[in-house]
Amino acid sequence: LRDLEGLGALVTGGASGIGLATARLLAARGARVAVLDLAPDGLPGQLTGFKADVSDDASTRAAVDAAAEALGGLDVLVNNAGIGAAGTVEDNPDEQWHRVLDVNVLGMVRTTRAALPYLRRSARPAIVNTCSIAATAGLPQRALYSASKGAVLSLTLAMAADHVREGIRVNCVNPGTADTPWVARLLDAADDPEAERAALDARQPMGRLVTADEVAAAIVYLASPAAASVTGTALAVDGGMAGL
Ligand code: NAD
Repeated sequence: LRDLEGLGALVTGGASGIGLATARLLAARGARVAVLDLAPDGLPGQLTGFKADVSDDASTRAAVDAAAEALGGLDVLVNNAGIGAAGTVEDNPDEQWHRVLDVNVLGMVRTTRAALPYLRRSARPAIVNTCSIAATAGLPQRALYSASKGAVLSLTLAMAADHVREGIRVNCVNPGTADTPWVARLLDAADDPEAERAALDARQPMGRLVTADEVAAAIVYLASPAAASVTGTALAVDGGMAGL
């Protein structure tokens, strides 16, 4: 299927995990694809990397401009860059709250602000934000991360309302625990990574984590012409975690 032929797409946090899987799939479906990342290294040849930090407005704006220039415009923006944080409200100091909200929430605001002038010139503009089941699931030990993703969910709905009349669709995906380098890092840090992995799998209704490719398929669907009437939705890719 080459349904994204002729479209330019930018994926933030596209050098790893869900973002990389999304960037690859967008390219396989015919889009020209740029990646904005802190470390856009070792990307496959069909992806063009731009180094930027979404917590810094100037570097984000410069990377979005450079990507739009390289792609000949922007039709699809995937706001995917994000960082985690463990703990209850007693565990995270204010600086950590500021840092995680700055990357996970304001990062999307900055990238979107920079991309909107280009998206307005597109015939099929779409924004997809990577949210999380943490936005609605009430996960233990994830107060800060959940609050950041709750904000991403609300931001997605508000942006969808603000831009629907100009034809810009805005949706998000809510992945469950996904098998990415992020989760691998968490498991590696555990005392017994294998036991931790088995326990994590056992907590999933399907008995396994979701894959980055499965989340990417949902993101690409929401960005694609097949979703032309879909805006203001959150699509869960969580193995039944939130619904069961
Ligand atoms: P990952 O760590 O494998 O990849 C994240 C990428 O984002 C990295 O390439 C990193 O360099 C980049 N990044 C981080 N901070 C950045 C910044 N300030 N500026 C630019 N780039 C930055 O993580 P992943 O698991 O693929 O997660 C991607 C998204 O999916 C995140 O928004 C995360 O919250 C969300 N998510 C992940 C899971 C999961 O279980 N893995 C579940 C739900 C939601």
